[in-house]
Amino acid sequence: MNYRHVVIAGVDGAGAFLKDANTPEMDRIFARGAVTYEALASNPTISAECWGSMLTGVSPLKHGLNNALIAKRPYPEDSPFPTLYKRLRRAFPDKKIAAYCDWTPLITGVAEESAGVDCLSLRDEELIAPACEYLIENKPVFMFVHMDSVDGAGHANGYGTEKYMAQIEIADGYVSRLFEACKRAGIEEDTLFCVVSDHGGTCEKKEDGTFFGRHGGLSDEERLISFLARGRTVKSGKIGKMNIRDIAAVTLHALGLPVPEFEIGGWTAQIPENLFEGYDGPYFDISGEEEAAARVSQVRHTSESV
Ligand SMILES: [Zn+2]
Repeated sequence: MNYRHVVIAGVDGAGAFLKDANTPEMDRIFARGAVTYEALASNPTISAECWGSMLTGVSPLKHGLNNALIAKRPYPEDSPFPTLYKRLRRAFPDKKIAAYCDWTPLITGVAEESAGVDCLSLRDEELIAPACEYLIENKPVFMFVHMDSVDGAGHANGYGTEKYMAQIEIADGYVSRLFEACKRAGIEEDTLFCVVSDHGGTCEKKEDGTFFGRHGGLSDEERLISFLARGRTVKSGKIGKMNIRDIAAVTLHALGLPVPEFEIGGWTAQIPENLFEGYDGPYFDISGEEEAAARVSQVRHTSESV
């Protein structure tokens, strides 16, 4: 059931809003795919914490990443929770691994230097063309493409508003181009192709009557996220419970690598139910415990600028 490639298109700040946005391309690509709009973001619902969980398979209490930290230093080589990049580099010393990210610290602060990641950071409207070229030329074993414009539209106009939803429609086109690139590379049948958001956001009114948005809290509009997957062993329909960090387990499993053992206080990424043919759990739901722990620890963060 192995795949030879995993491609993840990350739509920053899209939350569960992909469900109601006009996304004809994603509707087509994932028509027989597995989908959920009720996956959980990490807590707090902020980019570094959430993408960090996706790439390390552990909660923010374990990986320790936040927006300020990833702007300052690379992911530590001695972390007990190496990133997917480093795990995959060990398993595939000669294959291409790539991170093409709009938000630069998501490359520089969430990848180990030793992982040998091919990277590029440009605003997403400029990033997609070189990302597609890279896919076609290099057929990477793993590629994470991060788009930030939807989150920008959410901060500026409020999440769920017309302008925000219009930006999701634009991102739908970006996802389509990435998928077409997989086809042109001739790797479509061997690829697990996914779309994921890291968190959603709110819509709040300013004194002047205009709207803006923010995120970091635990409301459903902030913490519910989308995950869409397509691949030859992917079940058609609705995925069971999942958390963003589970994507680390999904990636390892898809590429035929062992998934570390589930351990409370350690690696907690699992394969969700109803995602792959022939894999139906068990799935341990620990979301309640994690929320309680995060509240007790009072994880503080600065207001986000991405
Ligand atoms: Zn944001």
